[in-house]
Amino acid sequence: MYRCWKCHEPMKANLNSVGLQCERCGSKIFYKERPNITKVVRSK
Ligand SMILES: [Zn+2]
Repeated sequence: MYRCWKCHEPMKANLNSVGLQCERCGSKIFYKERPNITKVVRSK
């Protein structure tokens, strides 16, 4: 599960898709939800 780092909208789309953007705010930076680890991922 990924979420937008800006508005925390859950991302349903595959993060591997090129040009992926948050549907709500248009951000291209996401973080992966994990119990103890937060990994930030930037979409190309
Ligand atoms: Zn967003």
